Amino acid sequence: MKKTTLHNIRRKIYAPRTFLPNDRSEISDGPFRSIRHTSPVSINWHITSECSTDCKYCYLGRRKTKLLPFSRIQSLINEMSELDVFSIDLLGGDVLLYHNLVELLDMISECNFLPINLSTKSFLSKEKALQLKKFSNIIWELQFSIDTDDDQIAEYLVGIPDYTQRIFSSISNAIEVGLRVAAKSVITPYNVFTIPRLYRKLKNIGVSEIRLAAYSRSGFHHSDDLFLNDNCYKWLEEKVGE
Ligand code: SF4
Repeated sequence: MKKTTLHNIRRKIYAPRTFLPNDRSEISDGPFRSIRHTSPVSINWHITSECSTDCKYCYLGRRKTKLLPFSRIQSLINEMSELDVFSIDLLGGDVLLYHNLVELLDMISECNFLPINLSTKSFLSKEKALQLKKFSNIIWELQFSIDTDDDQIAEYLVGIPDYTQRIFSSISNAIEVGLRVAAKSVITPYNVFTIPRLYRKLKNIGVSEIRLAAYSRSGFHHSDDLFLNDNCYKWLEEKVGE
């Protein structure tokens, strides 16, 4: 039987124009009126560029930016709620480092938006984990980024020492207080051979879901040596299948 791989899954291709009305007036007056939303269903909100690492593959053009005053953020959230926005996705940088995070989560909770996922690469102390646990009605999952269990490789990839130890402790703290924890690994030729071992360790300590993503080109810090080559893919496919 032919093995199913990403390359031979049959794809159906849709032409985007099929879904568009012929005339723009149809959107406001015609049959599309009732199915078009007049406001966004969800908002992706880049809330901070702050972050505790310096990843080789960073996708973000990080620079010091002036943040909106929290009073403005409050009024924007109220506005979103009035417009019936369903969900707000908080993005960074590292959202856990946003200085008004607790107040922000309070507001999101009060306005009954859908639960969110938070993603981080920073250390999570037991105290902070307990603080987040109070928002388990709106935090569906906390995702930690960890690319390897090898400290030297981690330091090379994320630019700071003792990273793996810090993230493993953070994961334990989060799990201990009862948060749902996921992990994400960006795979490059530098860490690929540690991925199966990392996967098993994360599973053993109770991480609910582990997401693996091959390095892809980003606009700001691209380097060709981070792309996986055919040998890496072949090796990984064999090992993950074991
Ligand atoms: S990719 Fe790394 S360095 Fe870039 S924002 Fe995310 S955590 Fe920070």
